[in-house]
Amino acid sequence: MKPLFFFDLDDTLVDHGAAEEGAHRETHAAHGALFGGIAFEDWLASYRRNNLRLWHEYGKGAIDRPTLTARRFALPLADLGLDAAHAVAVGTSYMAAYGRNWRLIEGAEDALEHASREGVVGILSNGFRETQRAKIARFGLDRWVRHVVLSEDVGAMKPSRAIFDAAAKAAGGGERRRLYVGDCFDTDVVGAKAAGWFPILFDRRGAGAPEPVIFVTRLSDLKPLL
Ligand SMILES: [Mg+2]
Repeated sequence: MKPLFFFDLDDTLVDHGAAEEGAHRETHAAHGALFGGIAFEDWLASYRRNNLRLWHEYGKGAIDRPTLTARRFALPLADLGLDAAHAVAVGTSYMAAYGRNWRLIEGAEDALEHASREGVVGILSNGFRETQRAKIARFGLDRWVRHVVLSEDVGAMKPSRAIFDAAAKAAGGGERRRLYVGDCFDTDVVGAKAAGWFPILFDRRGAGAPEPVIFVTRLSDLKPLL
């Protein structure tokens, strides 16, 4: 049986961090009257702090998706002493700008193309269903990707074993080499390893990892590992 090569999407294939920052820069500029004297960097830091905490709560099942999408703009506005009643308008601006700022990470297409010749390729992501599917469509990743496994469809998020098991099952199961590439140690590496997948950390900024793990700093370095 052909091996499975599954990839995380955000900050592994698509540069989510840069798109997020670019979208917040546009949103901050477009709502000048609201943000007033608040510097862009302070807005971005407040958003990221709140968003991270909310995603953590969402991952634990403590809040649902509508609550997450409403609060991730309302809470940073309130923290900065701004009118949280504008959260919906800010969120709408942000999501439109976010899509305009998507870019592939260097080497993503080559890595997927190479992986598709050596095995069966999939994407396994915790992101919102429509957003992640739109990214895959925008960049035509279905040229190589045969299976897209999303937490919202499975009902479990990385690092849960259930989502990795669902990915293996979607690809037809069986005893075969299963490899997962992702940028986050806590969700991607820990989750994959616990579910019997071979994890590879994509450590683009050379941040290191809390435990020994095979890592690459460029996607082009994946080729000999596949
Ligand atoms: Mg990621």
